[in-house]
Amino acid sequence: MGQITQRKRDYVYRALPYSIAALLAVGLSRFPFHAIEYFTYDARMSLAPDPSTSGHIQLVTWDRESLTSLKGKPRVTDYTHLIQQILKVPIRALVLALPASEDVKGSANPFDRLEGTWQERVTLADTLRLVPNLFIVFDPLNVPLPGESAKLRLPAPFDDLRVMSGPISRDLKNFAGDNVARRALIRDEYHLVLQPTVAQLINPVSDPKDYRGAFEFRGSLQVFVPYRSRGAYPKLSAATLLSSSDQAESLKDKIVVVGDDSQTDTADYIKTPHSRDILALPLVEAHANIIDTFILNNGIRKLPYGIDVAATLLLSLLVAHVVFALRPLQGVIILAATVLSFSLLAYALFVLFGLWMNMAHPLLAAFACYYLFIPYRLILEYRKRWEYQQKNKLLTQVEELKTNFLGMMSHDLKTPLARIKGMAEVVLRNRETLSSEQTEALSQIERSTDELNEFISSVLCLGRVESKEIKLQLQTRDVNSLLDEVLRKYKYLALEKNIEIRTELEPLFSIRMDIDLMRQVFANLIENAIKYSPEGSSILVSTEEVDGRILVQVADQGIGIPRDEIEHIFMKFYRSRQTKNSSIKGSGLGLYLAKYFVELHQGRIMVESVHQQGSTFSVQLPLDV
Ligand code: ADP
Repeated sequence: MGQITQRKRDYVYRALPYSIAALLAVGLSRFPFHAIEYFTYDARMSLAPDPSTSGHIQLVTWDRESLTSLKGKPRVTDYTHLIQQILKVPIRALVLALPASEDVKGSANPFDRLEGTWQERVTLADTLRLVPNLFIVFDPLNVPLPGESAKLRLPAPFDDLRVMSGPISRDLKNFAGDNVARRALIRDEYHLVLQPTVAQLINPVSDPKDYRGAFEFRGSLQVFVPYRSRGAYPKLSAATLLSSSDQAESLKDKIVVVGDDSQTDTADYIKTPHSRDILALPLVEAHANIIDTFILNNGIRKLPYGIDVAATLLLSLLVAHVVFALRPLQGVIILAATVLSFSLLAYALFVLFGLWMNMAHPLLAAFACYYLFIPYRLILEYRKRWEYQQKNKLLTQVEELKTNFLGMMSHDLKTPLARIKGMAEVVLRNRETLSSEQTEALSQIERSTDELNEFISSVLCLGRVESKEIKLQLQTRDVNSLLDEVLRKYKYLALEKNIEIRTELEPLFSIRMDIDLMRQVFANLIENAIKYSPEGSSILVSTEEVDGRILVQVADQGIGIPRDEIEHIFMKFYRSRQTKNSSIKGSGLGLYLAKYFVELHQGRIMVESVHQQGSTFSVQLPLDV
């Protein structure tokens, strides 16, 4: 029952982040985040190469040079001369973008801003009447009120000339609200505005709704313009055109857009995705960009909302997965790679196909999920670590209890054991009164108590090792003499098995060491060599000085150690599989203690062994500890 609830809880813990990620994704997708979205939109547009132009448009501008040669702003007569020059070649259309003004709203008459007499105005009106396909832009900075564009009319003497609304819409309050021009109007409530009307001369489109990327906005039809950076269109200075009529050739068959680029009034300029400078792009160029969007029909198409939500959902779920299922570094790398690939995909779609994929939602959701889930994961990890710590604590306590218990028990066993051995010795002293079987039994008791005693000593020693009680009692001694002493002790054991122990002891300097501990180390190695060797084999004990260290080696021709067990034999209580089932006795503590003691002396203990052929144990000791 408890297990089922635990599993259920685990399941909920694992499913929770994914559900939160999904909710967050759907929730975030409902808000537009215009500032971020248009930031990425502008970045994509400025990083993308400019789309090529249709080649149908030629600009004629009143630039600084023109103003210098006219000694001031162009007057009515200058316009008349300019138009006469333009009319020297056949042109497709003339778009007249007279100086704009932010102050004048609604029914502004653009000709009012030109200086000139009534008679001069009449002459200009007469000249304009000769232009085929004349389009006069009415108030480019204001989008006409619904139904108003049909009523636009200029005052006399221009009242019979066609004037049209040709707005350059900027994001004033709607969309990004940053005064940057990104969209263009196709149609107000009922009528096509100027730029698509001009474009229809070259590329007629029967239903304006068919324009690529066309979308409805508050009763009007609009499109996002792939604005080019400044200077994308051929530009002729009005001054040049006025001074020589040869220049008019370049206007042949073109849609000629006349306007101001004298950098004297910011109202003649707009900000674009490419630049936020107040003189970023002259209105003439903006008109050219918009007209070209309709000629080329390459408005930017927004991908459907469903794709936006799907991408947001996908990225959020991925973040949830990355944060919870992967290692932190791996997670960060995968996340960075995903965000980068997503951005590249959005960029590629924009550049290659003019498709606008929302980036704000997916990226925001990814970051929000990441920052939300990281602390959540930390909490979970902290909990897990706390559980491990508790478990560890418990294990250490159990281990301590076990060692203490072993220690206490061994200690208590020592006295009765000594007594048993003593009694056996006492009885053995009167051998004559005993039968041979009784003598043998008593000798067995003596040997067994010796073995048990040795085991108990090892366990007690282990207790001291584990409680870090052992401190080195350093004395100066020759290693060879210590080995001789140990070898003497094991001489009889070797004789019993008819094992020959050879020695090759090089003369050595005496070194400082804990004699008792090192005696125990050598005794263990020599005893093992005898224990694990067959009768009649031989053992070689050698010493030498190598690279400023003393090397003691004990080599036998015994049963050897299987390769997969070599790394374990220095572990506490480890006994090889082959010895566990044999009659060879042992505690599995000897080598563990030997290693510990040698390392206390800053030395090393190593083994080389071939199964069934023999082993060589080496002890390296430094000359001074
Ligand atoms: P034990 O009391 O079992 O001898 P040790 O810690 O001294 O415990 O040795 C651990 C194990 O290493 C032994 O059980 C044995 O399997 C193996 N071993 C040690 N020395 C030798 C040797 N000279 N030849 C073969 N195996 C050995």
